[in-house]
Amino acid sequence: MKSRFDIAVFEGDGIGPEIMAPALELLDRVAHRNQFQLRFETLPAGAEHYARTGESLPGRSLEAARAADAILLAAMGLPAVRYPDGTEISPQIDLRKELGLFAGVRPVTLAPGQASPLNLPADRRIDFVLIRESTEGLFWSQGRGEVSAQEARETLVITRETSEKLFRFAFGLARQRRDAGRGHGNVTCVDKANVFRAFAFFRALFDAEAGRHADLTADHVYVDAMTLLMVQKPWLLDVLVTENMFGDILSDLGAALMGGLGVAPSADIGERHAVFQPCHGSAPDIAGQGTANPYAMILSAAMMLEWLGQRHEAPNLQQGGADLRRAVEHAIAGARALTRDLGGEASTVEASAAVADLLDGVAA
Ligand code: NAD
Repeated sequence: MKSRFDIAVFEGDGIGPEIMAPALELLDRVAHRNQFQLRFETLPAGAEHYARTGESLPGRSLEAARAADAILLAAMGLPAVRYPDGTEISPQIDLRKELGLFAGVRPVTLAPGQASPLNLPADRRIDFVLIRESTEGLFWSQGRGEVSAQEARETLVITRETSEKLFRFAFGLARQRRDAGRGHGNVTCVDKANVFRAFAFFRALFDAEAGRHADLTADHVYVDAMTLLMVQKPWLLDVLVTENMFGDILSDLGAALMGGLGVAPSADIGERHAVFQPCHGSAPDIAGQGTANPYAMILSAAMMLEWLGQRHEAPNLQQGGADLRRAVEHAIAGARALTRDLGGEASTVEASAAVADLLDGVAA
């Protein structure tokens, strides 16, 4: 069984290095206890790197990321650093395209006791996963839009090849969640098939995949109705799968249900590679103050361990990932170490130290 894993690390910009450092320390701690090794290679990329060198994602960094077992990324981009065409540099989006990371996995979970803007009934928990297709949809049009004095056009692209991979992934995830006791084995296709032919095509491909999984259930919800459901009855949801732009918007709504971007982790997964990163950006407004919330970064690192463990059939990594996730959940739900964005006073270092202390408890 493989026991040493190479991790490509992109600290990125703004608060990136501040939240990456404690995440790596915690990963080392989990690795030591669960008897595996992680070898981190920190790679240059991002807005600051671009400002200094003229390169946002150097070829060597991309190749090292391609060769690694997994990729951990903090956040990249600074509003003032732009390409000559006025758009921001975004190597995290370039990585998705280069490595074919079609499945953007955004878990939305609310542990008992965790604060949320929703007034949930006491016996209700939120635990669902939004899968955002991440390589096509309306984002296919990025850099290709046509604008004249009279009109502007962008094109949405849905392909059979990517949709089939996406839906296979979604049903696989629903099965894993059900087997782990975390979901009821249902996948919901979120679309707008009542209006657009492209979404009728998307839905037909979804239905074809659903037909291959007699042990799971499937349904459809229009994207506008899904926004209501996420706020009014989120406990009914299990696995949601949707187009890129719809997923972009719904994932911020999901983050809000959990209390904000500071606790929202994500994974961008393809057939061979995966990038794990918080949903938030580089937060330049608070960079260097030591107040950034490290939880989304640490939860993303936990997702990485669970993914690696599953891929390499290594239960000790899966266990380590689950322990790390639970330690963060306890730190937040018990209000032990709430950072400023969560209404507390804890610094980045204090919040990370609380997770380290709780790790021993959850793993006992
Ligand atoms: P942002 O997520 O960086 O910040 C939005 C707000 O949330 C800010 O007030 C910030 O202080 C706060 N915030 C974000 N993360 C936090 C954390 N961990 N702890 C405490 N507060 C936190 O979004 P933005 O301001 O729109 O973007 C800033 C830069 O980040 C831009 O250059 C943008 O392009 C980039 N960006 C990168 C990614 C990525 O790397 N995946 C994602 C989004 C934005």
